[in-house]
Amino acid sequence: MKAFISPTHDAVWTGNAMIRGKLIQHHDRAERSVEILAALKDDLRLDCVFVENAASAPPELMEVHAPDYLHYLETAWEEWAKAPDASFEIRPYITTNRYFPELRTRIPVTLAGQYLGDGGSPLVQDAWVNMKGSVDTAVSAAQAIIDGERAAYALLRPAGHHAMRDLAMGGSHIGNTAIAAQRLSKHFGRVAVLDIDVHHGNGTQQIFYDRDDVLTVSLHGQPENLFPFICGYADERGTGAGEGFNLNLPLEPGTELIGYMKALESATRRLIDFAPNVLVIAAGFDTYRHDKFGNLCIDTADYRVIGDCIAQLGLPTLFIQEGGYKIDALRANVHSFVEGFLAQRG
Ligand SMILES: [Zn+2]
Repeated sequence: MKAFISPTHDAVWTGNAMIRGKLIQHHDRAERSVEILAALKDDLRLDCVFVENAASAPPELMEVHAPDYLHYLETAWEEWAKAPDASFEIRPYITTNRYFPELRTRIPVTLAGQYLGDGGSPLVQDAWVNMKGSVDTAVSAAQAIIDGERAAYALLRPAGHHAMRDLAMGGSHIGNTAIAAQRLSKHFGRVAVLDIDVHHGNGTQQIFYDRDDVLTVSLHGQPENLFPFICGYADERGTGAGEGFNLNLPLEPGTELIGYMKALESATRRLIDFAPNVLVIAAGFDTYRHDKFGNLCIDTADYRVIGDCIAQLGLPTLFIQEGGYKIDALRANVHSFVEGFLAQRG
């Protein structure tokens, strides 16, 4: 297995996040990546490819996200900073709503409300550079699978699975997992995405919601009491041609390995039934018992069992980094997970 490391994997994210109304230091800290890289490079001794930025954006970026949204992300900081009293982060404070659904004027304060969907998704000065690094890494890893690698791991930040087609959510602006899946779908046809982050992968779900060639499955904490709250429920099954090609498996707070594996077995049954040619894992480690942003109870040794179960599917497998915020446990958790996967694969 090769690991692909983003050129901005350890970039400092200077923004804050708003969690339950409180502004706190953003949880996507550079140390996360340092710990995960130690697991991949030093503990697992994977062949690490340090990705360089591509000269131009991959076509999948435009296929997954709306042009006006991408234009906003690329230019937002420059426009925002022109105001003499601009804050160091772009944070929405007026949004379109059910009474005023249309933007009457496209200026920095209204555009922030249009495209930044919650308090955890501010934009800062270098955000676009970081996003480009992540996209190039996800696509490089996907291309390696197309070129014959049986497994690859893309280490990038921040997480991308909450990013909708034209709306940032949950600290995700660009859907790295969706972009990788899109690249793979052109070569492999049928692609399955299995999201094991503790939070529902609402962006990946939405991007493929009307498609029957990309199956999206998400195991996550019940959205009644965990972000993103407004979606991630079991009755969201897809629409049009995509009806039946989205599966949400919400888990009760406090679920431990036994309950988790029951849901994972339901997921793998659906995956086998779909018969994909390639698998993308949205690899989040905030299911960990002591992660402050989750509410499940997965322990370090359990990740080995989960990795083993995924490997048993016998598919070419691409791992895209999502969440995991208990920094001092990330190295051990990623090590355990990948080791379980590799042990089963032999
Ligand atoms: Zn998460």
